[in-house]
Amino acid sequence: MPSPVRVRIAPSPTGDPHVGTAYIALFNYVFARKHGGKFLLRIEDTDRTRSTLDSEAAILRSLRWLGLEWDEGPDVGGPHGPYRQSERQTIYREHADRLRASGHAYVCDCTPDRLEALRTRQRAESRPPGYDGRCRERGLEPGPGRVVRFAMPREGATVVSDQLRGEVSYESASLDDQVLMKSDGFPTYHLANVVDDRLMGITHVIRAEEWLPSTPKHVLLYRAFGWEAPAWVHMPLLRNTDKSKISKRKNPVSLDYYRETGILPEALRNFLALMGFSLGGDREKFTLAEMIEAFDWSRVHVGGPVFDLDKLSWLNGMYLRELGPAEVLARLRAWRLSDEYLLKIIPLVGERMRRLDEFVPLADFFLCGDLDHAAISREMVPKGRAPAETAKTLEQFADELDEHRPFEAAPLEALARAFCEKAGWKSKELFMAVRVAVTGRTASPPLFVTMEAVGRELCRRRLRRAIEALRAVRA
Ligand code: GLU
Repeated sequence: MPSPVRVRIAPSPTGDPHVGTAYIALFNYVFARKHGGKFLLRIEDTDRTRSTLDSEAAILRSLRWLGLEWDEGPDVGGPHGPYRQSERQTIYREHADRLRASGHAYVCDCTPDRLEALRTRQRAESRPPGYDGRCRERGLEPGPGRVVRFAMPREGATVVSDQLRGEVSYESASLDDQVLMKSDGFPTYHLANVVDDRLMGITHVIRAEEWLPSTPKHVLLYRAFGWEAPAWVHMPLLRNTDKSKISKRKNPVSLDYYRETGILPEALRNFLALMGFSLGGDREKFTLAEMIEAFDWSRVHVGGPVFDLDKLSWLNGMYLRELGPAEVLARLRAWRLSDEYLLKIIPLVGERMRRLDEFVPLADFFLCGDLDHAAISREMVPKGRAPAETAKTLEQFADELDEHRPFEAAPLEALARAFCEKAGWKSKELFMAVRVAVTGRTASPPLFVTMEAVGRELCRRRLRRAIEALRAVRA
């Protein structure tokens, strides 16, 4: 009997909860349900400089919002937590030791300077970059500042047999002696990922296409440990409408954006399903249960799926119309018409409100999605500056904002003021440009409390659209 299906997603908790994570989670979830198997969530947080608890919490919240709850976790009883690699350090160290003992790995003490010089030489000689194996035979012992590397076979080829793509072959000579344990004592993605997949009994690794080049290394690691490898499935990457790999400059990639703009989780699930799966015929609207029922890899296509926001809105509209007024009201309340949210914005517009009927026009930008930036683009441009220059400055500011946490008034203001110093802009100039971009008007409640209430995702989207509008202005 084949072993019961066990699959997982293994997101790294850095930055925002990504639509790509939800897309891969959906296919894993559906495959597990189809076969009565288990779907696991493993947080790959071994990059200590980039992983954050906020980001982990956002992943958990988004998966739950989408109805893709995982089946297992380390704390039994109550809702499951995820598995976390940061809690499994000794396991990786033991496994690295095992590979060293069997001659499949070695300690390396090459300094960053030496590795940099090596890369420069390789580039000058037009050779592929990679470690030259200097420490392979030196028999070094682990120690501070030292890493453990995998001793890749030097000859032959490694074949990855992918469920969707058939056999893909990689020359061993093209594979680097991959670092398995870093000098900070933490494992790299490759070691931790393979060890965990094995110990967690993963039968099918279903992940994004971008990991395919790592898979021959993983196949070789399984072999070095003497383990049987799981089945491999590499899903096509989501793409922007211009077919490039989905990116936050061109498309909102944070799941928070979709929640905040009132996309229904069931519609987003359906839309993500369409990215790689067809139910047959030209039927585009289907439920999760229908997808599970019909699921088979032969219905999964590998062509680069385009993440088209208009199509998502169209699909969402179909779901909304089916809900009935009472349910739509409930969804509106869960979105922004909650007492909690209204109580946040009433004090902000209250100053300028003379009659109740002025509330909606004064508060519209808190409650709507996209603004008409083309109509207001000139208002963003400070006197004596050009639209292109304004676009560039706003873009630099938006990039800083992307990295900035938390999204709260006081730190946002500090960030904006520091940015002005650097950019050589007067705060008055920047604040007006941002105000118009975010609220669509030249007079608004205090800017940074307003931004906090509008929320990170809408601010981000409006800034990006404002930048586009500015670029379209003829100077
Ligand atoms: N940690 C990787 C990620 O962030 C996991 C890739 C995989 O599924 O193996 O996506």
